[in-house]
Amino acid sequence: MRYLILSDIHANHEALSAVLKHARGRYDKTLCLGDLVGYGSDPNEVVEWAREIIETDGAQVIRGNHDKACCGLDSIDDYNPAAQASSIWTAEALSDDNLEFLTVLDKGPLEVAGFDLVHGAPSDEDEYIITTTDAEEMRSHLRTGLTFFGHTHLQGGFFFRRAAVKPIEKVPMKWEELTISIDDHSSFLINPGSVGQPRDGDWRAAYAVYEANDKLVTYYRVEYDAQEARRRMREAGLPLILGDRLLVGK
Ligand code: ZN
Repeated sequence: MRYLILSDIHANHEALSAVLKHARGRYDKTLCLGDLVGYGSDPNEVVEWAREIIETDGAQVIRGNHDKACCGLDSIDDYNPAAQASSIWTAEALSDDNLEFLTVLDKGPLEVAGFDLVHGAPSDEDEYIITTTDAEEMRSHLRTGLTFFGHTHLQGGFFFRRAAVKPIEKVPMKWEELTISIDDHSSFLINPGSVGQPRDGDWRAAYAVYEANDKLVTYYRVEYDAQEARRRMREAGLPLILGDRLLVGK
């Protein structure tokens, strides 16, 4: 079985379409780590895509903090002004059916065939795992040897081998993909990166594929029309900074 792992799509249909086109033929089933919406101009298109693949492809989707915020399950008080404005815009833009869909999304951790999906962290769906110290704190919370997480919008992750915790680097700027082996002697925290709002200094859309039979994770980066995504966000009246950052991936 080959799993397409997507996270932090953030209502960027331009990036999602490019990723799905690039990934065609490489996977059997889609898994999504949350933040379908927030920031971008296409919340209805992205939610409708998720609803459809759950029906047709047996896809599994967990919620992210922006999904919760946009449908009123969580407060936006701690968000910065641009994120607050985009949450309010998104809540108004979403159809009633699509809002309802967000309210009933599963919460992570969600176990899928011997590995786990979380939005932020195994201990707390809203927690960020950014540093090796953050990762170390998660060691006791890992239920399986392989956990996929998102939320930071930073492709890569960490692996634990005996006492050590080591970072896994993202795909280098000159490359399009990077494969790592999931061996039985280590535990892995794998972040596929953000489809629609990368923040690791690379503007390209990010995703990963997990080949369960061979125990391989391949990280990918895909060019897409970020200018068009930015133009549509401006046209929608979303804060300018949210579109501008797409061009630099920060
Ligand atoms: Zn996010």
